[in-house]
Amino acid sequence: MPLKTPNEYVESLRNMKIRAYVGGELVDSVVDHPLVAPHINTVAKTYELAHVPEHQDVMTAISHLTGERIHRYTHIFQNADDLVKKIQMLRLLGQATGTCFQRCVGLDALNAAYAISYEIDAARGTDYHQRFRDYLAYVQREDLMLAGAMTDPKGHRAKKPSQQEDPDQFVRVIEQREDGVVIRGAKLHNTGGINSHEVLVLPGTGLSPGEEPYAIACAVPADAPGVIFVFGRQSNDTRKLEGGCDIGNTRFGVVGGEALVVFDDVFVPTSRVFMNGEVEHAATMVNYFATWHRANYGGCKGGNADVLIGATAKMTRILGTDRNAIVKDKLVEMIHRTETTYASAIGASALGYQLPCGSFMCDPLLANTVKQNITRNVYEIGRLSHDLAGGFIATLPDSKSLENPEIGDLVRKYYSANPEYDVMERIRFGRYIENMTSVTTMVEAMHGAGSPQAQRISMLGQADIEGKIRLAEEVIYGTDNVEGLPLPEVAPRPESPGVASRTSPIK
Ligand code: SF4
Repeated sequence: MPLKTPNEYVESLRNMKIRAYVGGELVDSVVDHPLVAPHINTVAKTYELAHVPEHQDVMTAISHLTGERIHRYTHIFQNADDLVKKIQMLRLLGQATGTCFQRCVGLDALNAAYAISYEIDAARGTDYHQRFRDYLAYVQREDLMLAGAMTDPKGHRAKKPSQQEDPDQFVRVIEQREDGVVIRGAKLHNTGGINSHEVLVLPGTGLSPGEEPYAIACAVPADAPGVIFVFGRQSNDTRKLEGGCDIGNTRFGVVGGEALVVFDDVFVPTSRVFMNGEVEHAATMVNYFATWHRANYGGCKGGNADVLIGATAKMTRILGTDRNAIVKDKLVEMIHRTETTYASAIGASALGYQLPCGSFMCDPLLANTVKQNITRNVYEIGRLSHDLAGGFIATLPDSKSLENPEIGDLVRKYYSANPEYDVMERIRFGRYIENMTSVTTMVEAMHGAGSPQAQRISMLGQADIEGKIRLAEEVIYGTDNVEGLPLPEVAPRPESPGVASRTSPIK
């Protein structure tokens, strides 16, 4: 059965020669680095839960290619139920780890490349789709972790890829060969890249004729020659090197271990190229990816919020404030925001529709609404957690102070609260809240899957304002009343621009 165990995942990474820099130094093995290990441990959880019988329904699926049971993280969405199950999987994993488990970017990139390779073939008579299906079968068989690489550095934001002073600000093909292509450039914010098996590169923006070198979708092994990872910093990351009680989410870390990935003239064989110059399909590919990924946040951040709400509720008991009605109401507000966003993600998935290739896309307007809410609700949930936990999470002495024989007892004494709880519980839970509401976590919620304005632009296009005007006109000017009802006479509709009959369905 193509389902890796957590140990097999870790050992498979150990066998790779990934060129990764952490803290400015080239690491021998990403698996053995203390700053990377929590992120690997988080991904290992995604492999572990696929083997738990009670979670099999959400963590695994049946491959439409082979009929075998595979990890849901390598599955092509076959129906709306698959989309719903994905959101349920994300909530489960968010609850189990309290952080980002990284594999969703690769999953959504996999689905985007599957759909667009089909659409390019249909329009151009190329053979990308069968090539991609062969690659997909390999990914499913080996249960690989894929890093989706979308976000180009972008250089001058007012200029298109072809207008940049430095042409490498967007990943591009610098050489077409008989047996493949050579790519150059970089992608930013690469979630889980450093501990992935493969990097699936997609265009990060819509493209125009003349920008063909930038229309490249391809897969490269994470240890291919010329692929370089530079690990990003996170809030409080070096506390992991100190140990003690200061770390926060000790086992699983903060967000997704994002990295800069550089493609320093990387050769990609033809068998791994899924778009090569078809600029007119780049925008749709970006759009497909973004729509799936934006809906995700109602699942993963819902699961993360469950853990944060739990930590906050426990903190109120430790402080002795848990019986206060206002405290309870603030917890309710945290729950309300979590469930509202989760409900939107489930709704976006349940209303999924079929794409030309046969796979399923979630409702775009609802998916964008999910992510737009996340850019606010994660901050608000964090704010309420700070409110209830108290200021000590920002002023607490470090673990070395606790260990110091001269002052350790004093710190313990003056940070004790409700005597039913050991002071170390207050410190551990306080550090968790501090870390999981830190700058890195918040910024990830703001900008992951696209910055807030990107969702608002999409929402304006998807919300059908003209259709809504027609709805208003019909309600106000309509005359199809039930006969015999004593309704008032109204003034006739004045001559003005507008359309009086409804032509779009109510959504
Ligand atoms: Fe998955 Fe959420 Fe992390 Fe994106 S932010 S990779 S959806 S867990």
